[in-house]
Amino acid sequence: MIEIVAAFGIVVGGMVAASSGLGTRRPPAPPAPVESDPRDPIVLDVDLPCPWCLAPTTEADRRCPSCGQRFG
Ligand SMILES: [Zn+2]
Repeated sequence: MIEIVAAFGIVVGGMVAASSGLGTRRPPAPPAPVESDPRDPIVLDVDLPCPWCLAPTTEADRRCPSCGQRFG
């Protein structure tokens, strides 16, 4: 009986370890909005510079990623 419990514990432990290993995979964080690396692909999406601070913005931005001013 104790062998069964031990085997069950090993199986459950392995499943928990496997699932927790998958759980640690998180999607990549969004790029930092402060300064853009020249190699950063977000530069390709630059639409217009911010009218207040001239930071590069994208059409999808509802507010400046640099100074936080909302776009009309
Ligand atoms: Zn700005």
